[in-house]
Amino acid sequence: MSADGKVADYIPELSLMSAELFSLSCQGIDSPLIETGDSGQFFTMQSISKILALSFAIENFGRDNVFRHVGMEASADSFNSLMRIEMTSSKPSNPFMNAGAIAVCSLIYKAYKDGSACRLIAFMKSITGRENGFDERVFASEKRSADRNRALAFFMKSMGLLHGNVEAILDLYFTLCSLRCTSGDLAKIGAMIASGGISIHSGEKILTKETVFTVLGLMSACGLYNESGEFAVRVGLPGKSGVSGGILVSVPGRMGIGVFSPALNAKGNSVAGIKALELLSEKLNLRGLGE
Ligand code: GLN
Repeated sequence: MSADGKVADYIPELSLMSAELFSLSCQGIDSPLIETGDSGQFFTMQSISKILALSFAIENFGRDNVFRHVGMEASADSFNSLMRIEMTSSKPSNPFMNAGAIAVCSLIYKAYKDGSACRLIAFMKSITGRENGFDERVFASEKRSADRNRALAFFMKSMGLLHGNVEAILDLYFTLCSLRCTSGDLAKIGAMIASGGISIHSGEKILTKETVFTVLGLMSACGLYNESGEFAVRVGLPGKSGVSGGILVSVPGRMGIGVFSPALNAKGNSVAGIKALELLSEKLNLRGLGE
């Protein structure tokens, strides 16, 4: 499937992906994984990993502690915006913007130091049943071209909104962005959330109801950055996107969906991915409103 839009190139390594790639995977909460397209293609999770970091942090530190450092509100600003922090001198709007995710990473790093990335990789494995590691080339490319994220993090530190070793916190953030996955992995994470926090792979309870409700609520409110409103209108389901072209969707009580296509629109979301989800939502009546 080809699409309008453009493959992200502000992280040079991401620009090497073909715009023609497309895959779609659906994992029912009690039915097998169904996939089509380039479903064997690995890509990096990018901002979709912000779901993992947030879930892990709430489970380990408690919701109130996490949201002392980051807000729960949607934002009209782009994912890497600095503006609101500067204007209001207050904590980042939500954990799905870069600033908010970096704040979540700082809590994880404070608790687990250099063991943080391993714990998050193990956390993902407990959900999907496999370990794909992280893409070292994308990691290095992100680290080299991270002027914006570095600026955000040091700015937050200067305002007293971030504590600890900024470079180490950013390394954890870049590792999360570089986690390798397929659309099938995204579907499995979406299905775990859709099932109320139970791993489809092992049957293990991964998240409490409180974490699930928090993650689903924030996916609905701000999972696609400043395109979240339009996504809610067109697709009508909680989702989370990343600049490599992946989108994870969770249909509560029914299934998880992973879609991947690297050409992005101006807001950093997959053009073909959104279109496919719009068609699927309509076709399978995923909003649950009947004909
Ligand atoms: N690694 C990307 C960044 O920090 C993640 C952003 C995204 O996926 N929207 O810029």
